[in-house]
Amino acid sequence: MATAGIPFLEGRYSPTLDMWPIEAKEFNRIHKFYENLRDARFTTTRCTKCGRVSYPPRVICPECYAEELEWIELPKKGRVGVVVEKWGGVPICFERPLIDAWIDLGKRSPVRHILSRVINCPPETLKEGDEVQLVVFEVPAHPIELKNETIRAERVFFAFEPVEK
Ligand SMILES: [Zn+2]
Repeated sequence: MATAGIPFLEGRYSPTLDMWPIEAKEFNRIHKFYENLRDARFTTTRCTKCGRVSYPPRVICPECYAEELEWIELPKKGRVGVVVEKWGGVPICFERPLIDAWIDLGKRSPVRHILSRVINCPPETLKEGDEVQLVVFEVPAHPIELKNETIRAERVFFAFEPVEK
């Protein structure tokens, strides 16, 4: 993640500024979500007992409390419903504006709407009805203590980006 415009952070990475610090599989029971992302699959969980679909993915069903959940695919394209550009209060390692959108994944999606960050998008260009697609990117590897050793947690995360017209 770039730290453009902040000279003392240029080219550096601070774990204390990491918005997703516990994605290492040793500490995260939904790590399969990130492994699927790495395979270009956008997924979430569905309860095999009652059928409830959750997003974000869960380790326990919020409806019936079963732990028997399965991974299901979500569409990788959707249309923008509402878009918000944040110019103030943006975390220090993120470029301004931080763009978030309420995205409609379509009638046939197991999850109709999600909120996601939108990247690769010039300010004030994204509007309602625009098509966006999933984009997966590397998050800087994060050193974590595991028993007596330090390991590097290799990770990815996702956002959406405008589909070229
Ligand atoms: Zn359930």
